[in-house]
Amino acid sequence: MSTALLQLEGVSRAFDDGDDGEAAIEALADVTLEVDAGEFVCVIGPSGSGKSTLLHILGCLDQPTSGAYRVAGEDVTALGADDLARRRRETFGFVFQNYNLLESATARDNVEMPATYTGEPRRQRRRRAAEILRAIGLGDRVDHRPAELSGGEQQRVTIGRALMNGAQVILADEPTGAVDTAQRDKILGLLERLADRGHAIIVVSHDAAVAARARRRIELADGRVVSDDGTGKASEGSVAGRVGQPGAMPWLAAVRGGWTWMRSHRLAAALTVASVAVGVWSVVALLGLAEGAHRDAAGILERMGANRLNVGGYEFSGQRFVLFPQTLADAHAIAEQVANVQSVVPVLNRRSAVNAGSQGIDDVMVRAVIHTEPRTTDNVLWPLEQGTFPTEGDNDSLAQVAVIGRPIRDRLIGTDANALGTTIFLDGTPFEVKGVLGPHPGREGEGVAFATTESGLVWQETVVFIPFRTGAEVLYGTDQLNFIQVFVDDVSRIDETAADVRDLMNRRHDREGYTLTNRAEQLAAHMELSNLHATILGALAGVSLLAGGLAVMGVTLAAVSQRTREIGIRMAVGARRRDITLQFLAETAVPTTLGGGAGTLLGLATTPFLVWLADAPVALAPWFVPVALACGIATGLVFGIVPARRASRLDPVAALATT
Ligand code: ADP
Ligand code: MG
Repeated sequence: MSTALLQLEGVSRAFDDGDDGEAAIEALADVTLEVDAGEFVCVIGPSGSGKSTLLHILGCLDQPTSGAYRVAGEDVTALGADDLARRRRETFGFVFQNYNLLESATARDNVEMPATYTGEPRRQRRRRAAEILRAIGLGDRVDHRPAELSGGEQQRVTIGRALMNGAQVILADEPTGAVDTAQRDKILGLLERLADRGHAIIVVSHDAAVAARARRRIELADGRVVSDDGTGKASEGSVAGRVGQPGAMPWLAAVRGGWTWMRSHRLAAALTVASVAVGVWSVVALLGLAEGAHRDAAGILERMGANRLNVGGYEFSGQRFVLFPQTLADAHAIAEQVANVQSVVPVLNRRSAVNAGSQGIDDVMVRAVIHTEPRTTDNVLWPLEQGTFPTEGDNDSLAQVAVIGRPIRDRLIGTDANALGTTIFLDGTPFEVKGVLGPHPGREGEGVAFATTESGLVWQETVVFIPFRTGAEVLYGTDQLNFIQVFVDDVSRIDETAADVRDLMNRRHDREGYTLTNRAEQLAAHMELSNLHATILGALAGVSLLAGGLAVMGVTLAAVSQRTREIGIRMAVGARRRDITLQFLAETAVPTTLGGGAGTLLGLATTPFLVWLADAPVALAPWFVPVALACGIATGLVFGIVPARRASRLDPVAALATT
């Protein structure tokens, strides 16, 4: 059985009238014909007789409403969009009356274009494109753009483009309609030579000269074949189509295409970059504000002592409350066994009377401490004004040495006198003054409310530090702690840590009821506030990204409608839907990624000025960079996908028909 290259059998193509679905226009009616390799056919007939429709169906740009069509034996009437695209790519080359070249691309770029959809390596396809141009007499026009070429030259570039993927069949709709006779003869000569080499050439033309030169004439009238003067075979040979890899257009090619698009559409590209940059810029600024607020809140919390737990407990025993047992050993156990613990401070405090000479104060807070530097009750370092702090040696030898607060020094020894070495008495026990505290560090910042004692002194400063063992063994005769301070690392996990400490203490002393006080409520309130901040700021950033994204989508949608014809051309040469989607996505993703990068840099560079401008706490973190870049890229993909899909869904014939 001999199989013709192209076989139409009873093919009809009806179009809906548009207004009412009832009346349909039969553009083709019951057409049966075969075309073989090496034929040079001219399709003639009056305007509206169905010539273009026949060509579209032959080229797999359109499908019959009934009848069968086989290409090299394969029934193509059942194929989906992508398989039709493959057929076009492998078998057909199109030549249009109005050339349909890409204006911004050179002759070589135009010829090369079909091969971008077969996965052919770039260097190879560029070399072949130049060879093809040389072979059709355009060797000196390789780098010219369409506007720099004559009509006939442009039409020969289209033929070159048709040949790029092999083109077993070249379909030409009025190829000489817009060129002068000299050019027409060149084009016909070229088509003739191609037929001689085994290409099947099918030309639609009004032109009698074209019809005369063809080797077979098919005449249409009202969609029917009214005459066919038989076969017009020039040679027995046939050419092979170039079958590309199914992998097709790689990402790199799409990205390169996006870059080329940017360079040839500078204004649209600049708008896209700018709208995304502004969006991402505001994302960085708002992240900076949110992070600043968060850290500020954390700082306030720390100063408030919200990272502190007080471990203690009382029980009612025989008419009075007595302290639960808690000793230095408990403090060590907490430090060693509980997670999220930054430091543990055992507190052994007593109110005592202090005297020196004839002067005295009734209630000073005497703190027996294990640490070797003075700290406030919030564990903040408290610099000395004079002298030194008790050492570990002092602790081990039960030395009776003390560091006193300024009000005590002022009241007992005198404002100007050198207090070091003076003897003071705590509840009658002599201690030697080893140091004098400076001003309470809380005085310089906020967050500490200063209270006064009964004797009118600042309570926080009316304090005496002595070594822990001296207090426990010499002064009080007990190592029963008032409470244990536990400072945590991660304030947000303070409740967990509190539970762990409570369990440990209950276990160690075999009872229920250790209580822990913390500032969890204040903490929660602050966290809620900073979360609210973050939510509001996040929403603002989202809004500005949305605005940027919509601008991008607008630009891209406009590009799609301007470039409908280009999309048609690309589909005609065999681009699949996903190639078109990828192309438009890349065209938005490349500039939006650049915009994301620019916005990130801008944000990082300018956000610190917000401190000065808005007097707001601002902080930058390294994780802003990937987040901001991701926002830019995501904007491109999210807002590019709608126009890209819209482009890829276009009907190739309708797309080619746009002007
Ligand atoms: P020719 O190329 O011979 O001038 P066409 O193939 O373009 O003729 O058109 C044949 C007939 O089909 C005409 O009546 C035309 O109006 C109609 N037709 C072609 N394409 C469409 C379409 N997309 N929708 C409706 N009618 C169409
Ligand atoms: Mg036509």
